[in-house]
Amino acid sequence: MGGITSFSLDYFRLDGKTAVVTGANKGLGQSYAVALAKAGADVLVVSRRGDAKETIQMIEETGRKAVSFVADLSSRKSVKGVIAGCIKTFGTIDILVNNAGTIKRSPVLDYKEEDWDEVMEVNLNSLYLLSQEAAKVMVEQKSGKIINIASMLSYQGGKFVPAYTASKHAVAGLTKAYANELAEHNIQINAIAPGYIATDNTAAIREDEKRNAEILSRIPAGYWANPEDLMGAVVFLASRASDYMNGHVMAVDGGWLAR
Ligand code: NAP
Repeated sequence: MGGITSFSLDYFRLDGKTAVVTGANKGLGQSYAVALAKAGADVLVVSRRGDAKETIQMIEETGRKAVSFVADLSSRKSVKGVIAGCIKTFGTIDILVNNAGTIKRSPVLDYKEEDWDEVMEVNLNSLYLLSQEAAKVMVEQKSGKIINIASMLSYQGGKFVPAYTASKHAVAGLTKAYANELAEHNIQINAIAPGYIATDNTAAIREDEKRNAEILSRIPAGYWANPEDLMGAVVFLASRASDYMNGHVMAVDGGWLAR
């Protein structure tokens, strides 16, 4: 390539790139979508209900394009339209962030079959299918970035969330499986494993005083992160700066896993 002196912070820029972010109406998905736009990408803002006005406005304020796309990722039919929707809108897809996710809490002995199915469908099956559709385009264009959202429960078992744990362990595995087959096409597939972040997904455990104190006592940083704490990681994994990273699950966890 260009040698050491060719490196610059432009390696982190995403000008001219197009990205799909699922679950981009709020929480971490919103922060990923806005981060990619701030780095220069146009974004297909995927939400279940078409309620992503705030994200669209934040992206437009950066000067980039944001287009809303509605898809319920618990429906296979709906999932299959997403990548085609991006191609129709922007002509291509350079970056896919598989962020949408759901969690259902209940003791394992009472865990409902329908909750298991819904969590697996949204967190795992849709990610598998969206990645496959996106990768077909990326192989043709000989470049692409897929960023999956894993979890601390990609490493640990947790309690009362068996489906979530199973799905997030599988996300880590699929990240590696896709990377092994697609690296030769200049496609990088990595995952971000967020630690404990203050979003709707974690509201129930933050409201449980005992659980909240237990969690905080184990985080070396000593606090729950906010969605903006993940924005640097997503830009890095979407950019030229991470071209030699593949199949990696990158924890952004205030040191949780180091304990
Ligand atoms: P959140 O605020 O609850 O956001 C979840 C997103 O997923 C929402 O946009 C939600 O849409 C979307 N979603 C859920 N079910 C869907 C479906 N059937 N179809 C389409 N979209 C659906 O939670 P978050 O914390 O930002 O979570 C984002 C990702 O990070 C998830 O994969 C989660 O597992 C992961 N994560 C979060 C943490 C954390 O501490 N917060 C830690 C590790 C991993 P609606 O608004 O329509 O529900």
